[in-house]
Amino acid sequence: MTLAQSTETLAAGLRGDFIQAGDPEYDSARAVHNAMIDRRPRFIVRPVDTADVIAAVNFAREEGLILSVRGGGHSVPGFGTNDGGIVIDLKRMKGTRVDPQKRTVTAQGGCTWGDVNHATEPFGLHTPGGVVSTTGIGGLGLGGGIGHLTRPFGLVVDNIVSADVVLADGTSVVANENENPDLYWALRGGGGNFGVVTSFELRLHELPAVYAGPIVWPLEKTAEVMKFYAEFIDNAPDELNGIFAFLVVPPGDPFPEELHNKNMCAAVLCYTGPIDQGEMAVRPLAEFGPPAFKHLGPMPFPALQSIFDPIAPPGQFNYWKADFVSDLTAPIIEGHAKFGPGTPNIFSGVHIFATSGAAARVPKDATAWSYRDAKFSHVIHAQEWDASIEERHKKWVADYWNALHPHAAGGAYVNFMMDEGEDRIAASYRDNYPRLKETKRRYDPANLFRVNQNIKP
Ligand code: FAD
Repeated sequence: MTLAQSTETLAAGLRGDFIQAGDPEYDSARAVHNAMIDRRPRFIVRPVDTADVIAAVNFAREEGLILSVRGGGHSVPGFGTNDGGIVIDLKRMKGTRVDPQKRTVTAQGGCTWGDVNHATEPFGLHTPGGVVSTTGIGGLGLGGGIGHLTRPFGLVVDNIVSADVVLADGTSVVANENENPDLYWALRGGGGNFGVVTSFELRLHELPAVYAGPIVWPLEKTAEVMKFYAEFIDNAPDELNGIFAFLVVPPGDPFPEELHNKNMCAAVLCYTGPIDQGEMAVRPLAEFGPPAFKHLGPMPFPALQSIFDPIAPPGQFNYWKADFVSDLTAPIIEGHAKFGPGTPNIFSGVHIFATSGAAARVPKDATAWSYRDAKFSHVIHAQEWDASIEERHKKWVADYWNALHPHAAGGAYVNFMMDEGEDRIAASYRDNYPRLKETKRRYDPANLFRVNQNIKP
């Protein structure tokens, strides 16, 4: 069969969409979150079910096409697209089902965190996710998953109960503790290396509301606040999560006008224990300094999950660099105090996620995520609409990262990295890397799934 014939067969057999260059939808269909990535795949398939996914995987393998799998399209290095190959975009696979007895949600691979929060909120149940509601559960969940519930309930990978996976040979299998346990292990942190996850089963936790919100301090207090924060969050109960940040205060609610567009440092807290104990749990930090402003109170979890959405719009130029750090040591705090204040605009900044608490108690070989001993994972990110200032912003990120990296733990969270080469991937999986390579050899020996933080077979 010629490529034209097999393409026609694929397109005719799909229940979902088949898009190629020249189609009216092509330009919007090829776009991903990061505008720096401008690639032109030959075909884009939007499956509606597992049968469509199998057909597209078989087609890619048989035709020798480079294959990208897209969940929410948020990968900053642009792994959700490619030049000249095929994209399987899961955006039409958004089915969810909550099982309140079992306390799980089954969510198809094209869901975003907003879709999952929407499905589980009426049951008073939630699962850990990322901090922006439009990010895909697929990429975020398979790479690790850090957010507002990391300390209380662990990483996203710690809450994956089971996954349905279409493998490189076109078979669809289940991966969980009992079925294909090696694949289940590798999926939880190994990213999109092992197949297309058409459906996730995620563990849910009772969470009728959270006590949460931001606290901001003037920059002159950076060093003393960070030092206090490091100890505070380390000694806090698991129920309290924290993300430390450098930011330019967005000009709008809830921030008072005098702080608008000012460079400041901040912490975003989330307490998942009894709401009436929230105020007491956050008080030591909320009173330290004192802060220039705080906006803490009870709220439904989905409200917290979308507070960053306005400063993470699609279509901006994004450049990110990241590392794990064992702790907020003196040189790390010094580096942040020097470069954090240079945050260029309201979309950019530094997020220092706490990865302690429940996430740290999982043994480092229990899933592919190795850095259970790193207390923090930081990401320095520049985002802007205007491509002409890209180089200046990239320099800020690179200088910042270079200053911190010698004092960091060695690897980084794979989902916060750009396309940085094999050594960096190996350093990020550390002692779990050989087992990941072995699993890759078993499930994808020809490396069909290679547009990702690639684990070469
Ligand atoms: P995509 O670009 O669609 O996919 C990324 C990778 O995952 C690709 O390699 C793709 O092949 C693979 N993939 C996606 N879905 C599947 C699937 N169903 N089966 C197999 N492979 C799949 N990370 C955090 O941990 N916490 C955060 O709070 C957080 N916030 C973010 C906010 C923004 C605005 C952005 C841009 C990113 C954020 N990230 C965060 C990083 C995020 O985890 C990664 O960008 C992740 O890759 C996004 O997943 P996605 O499905 O949206 O991306």
